[in-house]
Amino acid sequence: MLQFVCFGSGSSGNCSYVSNGTDAVLIDAGIGIRRLKRYIREYGLKTSILRGVLITHDHSDHIKAAGYVSNDLNLKVFTTAAVHEGMRHYYHTMRKVEASHDVNIEKGVTFELGTTLKVTAFPLPHDATDNVGFCIESADGDTFCVMTDIGAPTEEVNAYISKANYLMIEADFDVEMLKNGPYPQYLKKRITSGTGHLSNDQTAQVLADNFHEGLRHVWLCHLSEQNNHPELARKTVEQKLRQYGIIAGVDFELDVLKRHVVSGPWTEESEK
Ligand SMILES: [Zn+2]
Ligand SMILES: [Zn+2]
Repeated sequence: MLQFVCFGSGSSGNCSYVSNGTDAVLIDAGIGIRRLKRYIREYGLKTSILRGVLITHDHSDHIKAAGYVSNDLNLKVFTTAAVHEGMRHYYHTMRKVEASHDVNIEKGVTFELGTTLKVTAFPLPHDATDNVGFCIESADGDTFCVMTDIGAPTEEVNAYISKANYLMIEADFDVEMLKNGPYPQYLKKRITSGTGHLSNDQTAQVLADNFHEGLRHVWLCHLSEQNNHPELARKTVEQKLRQYGIIAGVDFELDVLKRHVVSGPWTEESEK
């Protein structure tokens, strides 16, 4: 059984909860602690089984509440040494993660959380200090992969989509909306570069290229407020996959995560 709730997704703040009923993790800590605690209460999520916070990278929308979250919920913070270092130097945070809560992880080295989760971080080319996606394998056979703030499709992106039963993947912008939108030129250049974000088209293509029968649910995340629209992101992915004979809603479930409010909770029964 897999339970997934997203508390917010995109440049205003990212934070999600993934659980198999025995062990749970938070992914990123970019929404305020009061909001997070309220959501946890409202949705009846168990904090007693939370084993830590996984941090993807040191951009503020992913880390700004990390100190509060780790201290208030007494959670260890798992990320690479370079991201921990970046978080210490991020001066907008009122509260830092205490050193005793830091856990350094290495890309490609699997570690255990609780008794039923195995987690592996893998590199993504996005332009933070260091940037990772996570593959979370549950003892009941489910594999949940998260790749937000990607930049460009890579071998690792392909490999982990191929492993995932559940996938949270960035679809940041629509090419035309960004081109015609209000962002300054340098920002447009950054976003479309290989170390920025993935467009709807890129995400659609990488999903089509790596789709497999075991992939049961895809959540599009980190949509730009100015340069994307949930229906457009969904349609772009649906249409591309249909060209490959893969039908959303039939062959797999497709959802778009909301920016400012909770998406889910989804509860998925294990098939293995
Ligand atoms: Zn981000
Ligand atoms: Zn980022």
